[in-house]
Amino acid sequence: MWKIGEDGRARLRWSAVIVAAVVTLGVVTACAPQDFPDDGKPVVVTTFTVLADIASVVAGDRIHVRSITKPGAEIHGYEPTPGDMRRSAKADLIIDNGLHLESWFTRFVQALDVPHVVVSDGVTPIDIASDAYAGKPNPHAWMSPLNVMIYVDNMVRAFTRIDPDGRAEFEANAASYKKKLQAVHDDLVTSLRTVPRTQRALVTCEGAFPYLTRDAGIAERYIWPVNAEQQATPKQVSATIDYVRDNQVPAVFCESTVSNRPMKQVASATGARFGGTLYVDSLSAADGPVPTYLDLIRHDTTTIVSGLTGQGNR
Ligand SMILES: [Zn+2]
Repeated sequence: MWKIGEDGRARLRWSAVIVAAVVTLGVVTACAPQDFPDDGKPVVVTTFTVLADIASVVAGDRIHVRSITKPGAEIHGYEPTPGDMRRSAKADLIIDNGLHLESWFTRFVQALDVPHVVVSDGVTPIDIASDAYAGKPNPHAWMSPLNVMIYVDNMVRAFTRIDPDGRAEFEANAASYKKKLQAVHDDLVTSLRTVPRTQRALVTCEGAFPYLTRDAGIAERYIWPVNAEQQATPKQVSATIDYVRDNQVPAVFCESTVSNRPMKQVASATGARFGGTLYVDSLSAADGPVPTYLDLIRHDTTTIVSGLTGQGNR
């Protein structure tokens, strides 16, 4: 859980994971299952699927990239398993988002002797405005493709350190990917401009969209600021209902990694449409709607625009 203080049970669980992982590491080093092809290429591990996709584009064929968390996982309060520790211990580099996204990550890397890089370094954070997290940076910086260009530059530098001969290739991969990032950004801005000005509000479950709504020039409202308990309080739900009513917001949305029940409640109380599922904290499986980061931004753009304008029978 993304809590400011840790409870004793969480500490106990963590100790158990670390002990189990250390025991496992000691026993299976010689006969570990091959989680990565044994071809001499470096291995990079990321904390979640979105970063793994971006990193694999930058890395090309020179580096193996894997995500610790699986598609659909709740990433803020994830609890790493001994298997996660064992696999990550063999990596050459671990990449995390930073900005307090992965509350579990600090202790995870402390227990491992693997270098790590924070890919949001250099991004200008937007602070969370309300509730217990007020004043802390909002971690969802990747929801701006412009910020992801900074992530990409950080990855090029980090990958060059573990594979110096790959530098030109990483830089070329980054340059062509940045053109695609610029294109999905431009499309986001252009598409949102087709929504009538009075309907340009994005109401979601988690407050994960300040970077996207800033880029798109639309208002942002959410039920809760950061996925933690994943339980909307009655006060949070009624404040969202008031906002949707007062502003006559035509559609509301929820994200793929949390329950949409509180938002369905907002929709039925206000008469707003439920505009659909947005992807933020995780990609879908390979055969789902958002197997890549570029797909994620395209999917969310289309879902938001068709939800707000009432097109597409959502
Ligand atoms: Zn989130």
